[in-house]
Amino acid sequence: MKDRSHYGLMDDEGVMVVTPEQAETWLVTRPPAPIMWSRDVPDNEKSHRLAAAMEAGEWDVDRPVEPVIIAKETPTCRAEYCRGGHHRLSAVMHTGKPQRLRVQFYSKPDGYDRAFREKRLREIAEERAAIPHCHVCFWEGTPEEIAAHIPTAHKYEVEA
Ligand SMILES: [Zn+2]
Repeated sequence: MKDRSHYGLMDDEGVMVVTPEQAETWLVTRPPAPIMWSRDVPDNEKSHRLAAAMEAGEWDVDRPVEPVIIAKETPTCRAEYCRGGHHRLSAVMHTGKPQRLRVQFYSKPDGYDRAFREKRLREIAEERAAIPHCHVCFWEGTPEEIAAHIPTAHKYEVEA
C-alpha cells in the first residue's frame, strides 16, 4: 500500500453519489502552495473507457484498487481537491450524470506531523479495541452477537 502519511489522516470513507459538478470542482481546485498543479481533467482513452463502463452500468465501486482520494479543506486551502482518482472523476464529467464512487477524505489537523500521526493512530486502535468485536474479522456487535457469530461466520477457521 502506498504511503499516504503526507496526506494527513483518513477520516471518512464511503460510497457516495458524485455529480459531474462536484467532480469538476474537485479536479480544478488548486491545492495550497508550494504544491501548485494546473487544472487536471483527464480527457483521454482511460477516462473515456471508465465513462463507458459507468454508462453501461458496469461500473463496480469496489473494482478500483484505491478509492478516489480527496483532501479536505484546510485553513490554507478553503476547498476540497482531488489527490487520486482523476480519471474516475473525469469519467463522471464525461457521462454528465451522477455516479456512485468510493471516496476517501483526508485531512491534516493543526500541528500534524509524524508524532501527531502516530499518537492519533494509537488512539484509534485503542478506541477500536474497546468496542466488542469479532477477533477474526473485526465485525462489531454485542458480546452475545459475537459469540453467536463466530461459530457460523468462521466455521472453518474455528475448526482448523
Ligand atoms: Zn467475524
